[in-house]
Amino acid sequence: MPIRFAPIVALLLSLASLPVRAEWHERTDAIMGTRIYVEVWSEDAAKGEAGIDAVMADMRRIDELMSHYKPESQLSQINARAAQEPVQVDPELFDLIKLSTHYSIITEGAFDITYASVGHLYDFPHHIKPTEEQIKAALPGVNWRNMLLDSEHHTVRFEHQGMRIDLGGIGKGYAVDHGIGILQARGFQHALVTAGGDSRIIGDRMGRPWVIGIRNPDDKDKVVTRIPIVNSAMSTSGDYERYFDEAGVRYHHIIDPRTGHSASKVRSATILGPTATETDGMSKTAFVLGPEKALEIINRMPQYDAIFVTPEGKILYSNGLAPPDEKQGPPPKPAAKAPAKH
Ligand code: ADP
Ligand code: MG
Repeated sequence: MPIRFAPIVALLLSLASLPVRAEWHERTDAIMGTRIYVEVWSEDAAKGEAGIDAVMADMRRIDELMSHYKPESQLSQINARAAQEPVQVDPELFDLIKLSTHYSIITEGAFDITYASVGHLYDFPHHIKPTEEQIKAALPGVNWRNMLLDSEHHTVRFEHQGMRIDLGGIGKGYAVDHGIGILQARGFQHALVTAGGDSRIIGDRMGRPWVIGIRNPDDKDKVVTRIPIVNSAMSTSGDYERYFDEAGVRYHHIIDPRTGHSASKVRSATILGPTATETDGMSKTAFVLGPEKALEIINRMPQYDAIFVTPEGKILYSNGLAPPDEKQGPPPKPAAKAPAKH
């Protein structure tokens, strides 16, 4: 009597075709001394929450491995012993240290994880800065070329006493990319992962780009420009993140490896690119080398774009984002990751 079952079958079929209620799931946590934010689009709440759990757990794992604040981390072991002997570490940490030297090369030394040899003398929350004598004594320890990296044994050796490294300038970008990798492996197609100033987005926001605001360096509630982005990463570094002011001078957490002083050639720098490890590794450049030199470097590499806020409050764009009459130098790049409107 198939006829009698027909209504039930029809009901089941209609249930099956009812749209499932997909939603955004989001969470904020404090890890790595910063704000971690994860947002995913999921048709299944449990799957969405489990994806966020996995990203947060991974952020904690990376922090345990790489934090220079945790004495038991492998990175702290390097700082404690590498001037005496080669220190073996996990391949993952070794690879990130090695990768950091690539950014030292392309930023012409502006990015240098051995900046910490002098950087550790600053304590911004407590308004502590080194004296000129202390800087002079510590500065010879700043030079990434004095890190001996043995790729076969995954060891790090410092050629100089007093050398230190910290991954504060690339670790969050790396952790964001790792988090995005976890979400992609779980099948998410629309997601955002942010760690402090470093973010990466997969997909769009329901057919529209994600719109990211770049804040006014002097007022966190004001936005100087907005950038639409899709499937891209971005990092913003600012002199307003960790700092103190003394006698009209701002002492902040981005350090010029050549001088040991805070690098102040821009107030903020935002880099757009395919991955957050890359954009993080690039976002300190303009502070140290100045916006003109940094734009020259960025404009040479079609995968990156940049927005700088100068000390005078001027906003500078790389060629991929600039209005046609403001483009500088050689021919425009092919379509950037972000539409050129803002
Ligand atoms: P965030 O922590 O908000 O992502 P940034 O990406 O701007 O901040 O990185 C700033 C951090 O980078 C500093 O707190 C410090 O740990 C590290 N750092 C500072 N100066 C340099 C430098 N010249 N090269 C590499 N890392 C640096
Ligand atoms: Mg960063």
